[in-house]
Amino acid sequence: MCDWGYKTAVDCSEILSDGKLSIYERWAFWAEHTEKMNEIPMDEDTLDALAVAVGEKDYFVYSFTAESFFHKAGFDSRRIYSAAGSWEFLQCAKACSSSSVFPSSEAVHEILSNLREYSVVTNDCLPKCSHCGGDCIPNVRLNDKFCHERYSEGLSNLISWLEEIAASKTRLVIVELDSAFKANRLSAFPMESIAADLASCALVRFSNERYPWVPAVLSKAVGLPTKSFHELPELLAHAESADGQMLSVAAEKEVEQAAESRKLQRQERDLSVEPIHWRRILQHLGEDLFNCAYERSM
Ligand SMILES: [Zn+2]
Repeated sequence: MCDWGYKTAVDCSEILSDGKLSIYERWAFWAEHTEKMNEIPMDEDTLDALAVAVGEKDYFVYSFTAESFFHKAGFDSRRIYSAAGSWEFLQCAKACSSSSVFPSSEAVHEILSNLREYSVVTNDCLPKCSHCGGDCIPNVRLNDKFCHERYSEGLSNLISWLEEIAASKTRLVIVELDSAFKANRLSAFPMESIAADLASCALVRFSNERYPWVPAVLSKAVGLPTKSFHELPELLAHAESADGQMLSVAAEKEVEQAAESRKLQRQERDLSVEPIHWRRILQHLGEDLFNCAYERSM
């Protein structure tokens, strides 16, 4: 795979649409990549630190990776919204039905068995939609054919959870992990809109960038640089010494300092930005893409 330029997991995310490869080569590479991803062990230190930081607090996970890390780590699936979908599922490439979504494990097994036994992938072992018999694609938000149905319950739970927080004016801290400006605007933008709309909300953004960016219009937000996730346990370690309270205190101090400097920036620049309500943005993520595709094909 390296000979074809696929050196990282991110490179491999678009392997099934690589025009340089035949359809059989694409699926063979995809199956090998999926198998490798399944073999990568969880980062237990980071997970332990996260578990301690979360403790008994009320929480919700908004994930924009399709690797299902939080599910695998044992977080409550009712408290996870996987906005990007999941590599663990395939869907009909034409999105012929909103429920045409299937586990990908069988296809991976079939392709790899064929590849290892006969050194070739044939049409017979490529995954097909069980509704229309057509081709399949990963159930991941790669284009406007993405079937969102599997994730709709998570989205609805997230919206209800946020509405309760807004109504009760409970204090909310959004902790963003690995949120680089260039990479993940679809992840960062909804979180920024929540932080802008909820008065009692603070945003703490961990990023591998040297100078993590947060919008100047947010009154309680801070970007903290981390070089890798191996540093995360250390950053969160303070939580262990005070039953989860230290992280909030340390983060709050940084948030206050950053808020003060941005307040000055705003006054200087006389910024006037109208916040967009978080509910509208989140609902847009769950828009019924299947219906849109269906209407266009009529
Ligand atoms: Zn189909």
